[in-house]
Amino acid sequence: MPLPPHKLTIRGGCNCGAIKYEISIPEIAQRPLHPSSSATDILCLPFIATDHCNDCRSALGTILPMWICSPISMIKASVVLRSKASLPSEASKRKNEIDEPRTPYLPAHNIFTPGSISEDSFLMFFESSENRRRSFCGRCGTNISYAALPMPEGWPDMLDIVLGTVDREDLSGEALKPERQLWWDCGIEWIKDMSVQGVGEVPRHPDYKVDVVDEGK
Ligand SMILES: [Zn+2]
Repeated sequence: MPLPPHKLTIRGGCNCGAIKYEISIPEIAQRPLHPSSSATDILCLPFIATDHCNDCRSALGTILPMWICSPISMIKASVVLRSKASLPSEASKRKNEIDEPRTPYLPAHNIFTPGSISEDSFLMFFESSENRRRSFCGRCGTNISYAALPMPEGWPDMLDIVLGTVDREDLSGEALKPERQLWWDCGIEWIKDMSVQGVGEVPRHPDYKVDVVDEGK
């Protein structure tokens, strides 16, 4: 399902709140086309995709990664300043309760570049292969992004954002359902089946009750 044609903003971040982002998507007439687009197969940027490649599966520790593949120019990010942050053990308490000292929302290019303002943040980088840069939060471990550097000719600079980091309120509509499956031929058969058909008729497990677990029952 393509992203809706109107202007929209998608917000998200890591689990502890040290890294937050906003993706400002213009109305459809102003979105660049994916370089593979043709008259019969139009795909605008950004787009949402599942990803069956081996590298992303293992790097993210996720059976079926999903991405918002976005021009980096549409993304702004804000990071907590590491030099002024509280102790890591307090991260979960801080998530929604305490305003930590952080940067304003700045162009993502200024944040998602090693040696930039990210030096004083929890944003960490990992080159999973040559010119393939991933980022994650060094405080809570959330995977955030992927970038190929430089992009092939004809592409804008891109920053793919892990779809699971989008705030729940922005995920809960139908707007962010994937419209493409990437690297299909690299995929594992049962995962490909699941991506098309779901997991099938398996029993729904009852939710755990925290008080019962705490009592060891
Ligand atoms: Zn974090």
